[in-house]
Amino acid sequence: MAKPTQPSEIARDVLRQLALNRTPPTPDNYLTLYHEIAGTAKEDSFPEKALKNLAAALPRDTAEQSRFVRQIESAVSDKSWDALKAALLSITPAREVEPLHWTALIRDLTVQLERVQVGLTPTKKREMIEHVLNASSTPDLLFSRLQSLMQSWSQGKTVDASLAMVEPEVAAIPEATPVSVAAAFRPGADKESAKPSLVESHQQETELRELIAQLLGNSIGALLIDTPDLDEEARLLAAEVRSAITPEAIASFAVRMRKFIYRLSFFTEDQNELKTALLHLLNLIIENISELVLDDQWLHGQVAIVLKIFDQPLNLRLLDDVERRMKDIIYKQGTLKKHLNEAQDRLKTMLAHFVDRLADFSETTSGYHDKIEHCVAKIGQATDITQLSDVLAEVMQETRAIQLNAQRSRDELCEMRLRVEETEKEVGRLQEELAQVSDMVRQDPLTGALNRKGLAEAMEREVSRVKRHESTLCLAMLDIDNFKKLNDTYGHHVGDAALVHLANVIRETIRPQDTLARYGGEEFVILLPETPLDESVIAIMRLQRELTRKFFMNKNEKMLITFSAGVAELGDQEQVILALKRADNAMYLAKRAGKNRVVAA
Ligand code: GH3
Ligand code: MG
Ligand code: MG
Repeated sequence: MAKPTQPSEIARDVLRQLALNRTPPTPDNYLTLYHEIAGTAKEDSFPEKALKNLAAALPRDTAEQSRFVRQIESAVSDKSWDALKAALLSITPAREVEPLHWTALIRDLTVQLERVQVGLTPTKKREMIEHVLNASSTPDLLFSRLQSLMQSWSQGKTVDASLAMVEPEVAAIPEATPVSVAAAFRPGADKESAKPSLVESHQQETELRELIAQLLGNSIGALLIDTPDLDEEARLLAAEVRSAITPEAIASFAVRMRKFIYRLSFFTEDQNELKTALLHLLNLIIENISELVLDDQWLHGQVAIVLKIFDQPLNLRLLDDVERRMKDIIYKQGTLKKHLNEAQDRLKTMLAHFVDRLADFSETTSGYHDKIEHCVAKIGQATDITQLSDVLAEVMQETRAIQLNAQRSRDELCEMRLRVEETEKEVGRLQEELAQVSDMVRQDPLTGALNRKGLAEAMEREVSRVKRHESTLCLAMLDIDNFKKLNDTYGHHVGDAALVHLANVIRETIRPQDTLARYGGEEFVILLPETPLDESVIAIMRLQRELTRKFFMNKNEKMLITFSAGVAELGDQEQVILALKRADNAMYLAKRAGKNRVVAA
């Protein structure tokens, strides 16, 4: 049989042989048998045509490219795999292998880890290293990233070690966090500077993570003290956000966070309802206090002011005010009640003692004993002076029947009745006296403004706020112009009404956080927290304008009340009383300059 020469004949023979020999028809077995049958060598199967096409398509724009193409063409025409390999390798530039200085880097790392730095707590540093380790797939990448991380740490501020010893976390956070977060969120921040490097953006991410954790763990957690399960969840979420580095962990955190926010919204609604209910309850109690003290004008006035305060949106200053007024009410009520109880107890003891004696010497008189016992019971049940007086009358009637024996007792009884009346009068006097002794309370009874004692307390509170928040406080001293003339012309009661009108206009005009106090007869002090001097002067001038719109009406006559004022801003180390003195001096300057004006101290 002739040796096949045509490829198709060779191929047919190959397949036949493969079947005969039961050789699996794999490409390799096919190829080997093909060359055997064709009498050719395996190396001959060089894809010359395909490689020539490829070489033809290569660019020859530069000398370098032309040289490369020639190298390929020569390798192809030589059918040499080795030459082709050498040509291809020549285009990959031989890399200068630079040794990686791992030793120095690790040494640097240990030093940097131990440095106590602003905003870089050891935990934060460890997290950053962890992130770099996770995100670097090759040793080279790991080296370069660690190196940049060390560079960024070495530029950070070092904290005083003694401070860090006491409270490293606290010492680290306040300065660094706001700055970097502000930078991270500043609009157009990335337009101004180059894009943040990987390390920088990681640093920002870690800071944000820490902030979210603190918000959850400390701030929100603190609000949830009464709901342990939500509190626990907030703390768990805080821990989770600190360690949620991978996308999967962040996604699972987000799911959990969403559920938490949903529960939190229910909680907030509950809290709001609770607040409303509590306010309602408080209103009810205050109204009831008012019912209990029908005969006391001062208490009524205070209760009305407290109720009015509750009509406004609440803030801490208003609550302070309510608390102060409630304390005064409670104090005064307590004092009155104590005196009234004492007076009543005194009466009860006297009567009980007297009835005992009556019973002693009237045992022989039939029926009398029972009647007296009946009286004793009534006395025991008596709750007020009127009832006791009724029992007294009854006792006197019974006593008449045994005149001889009771003659002396009747005299005693009369005397006691006198003492009862005296005690009653004393209670009335006490009540009146308490209302007048405004020193015991903090409000001026006429205008409802704070009195001197109330002002002293308010100044103390505001000064400590100024120190806490490093804010400003202004004091304004107001004195009504020509008030004596008004008194002399229209009488003292019109003067009083004018004072009440002024206090009302001031209260309506100043902000809720401002405080009004009556300093003296027709002198008022206004405290203006968180307001610089120029704005305070403007505020007091606005008050002058308000008085020209809201006239004081005496019968049907419109009367213009004006005042002169001095305003002083509390100095850095200044005692508040001295600032008040400066305001007073400025007020006198305003008087001297022609009245109805405001002068800054
Ligand atoms: P000036 O413009 O200089 O302040 O003059 P003035 O008349 O307002 O000042 P002066 O201090 O001479 O008079 C204050 C008057 O205020 C004297 C006093 O009778 C009156 N006054 C003080 N307290 C009260 C009060 O509670 N009710 C009334 N009706 N008058 C008062
Ligand atoms: Mg005066
Ligand atoms: Mg005056």
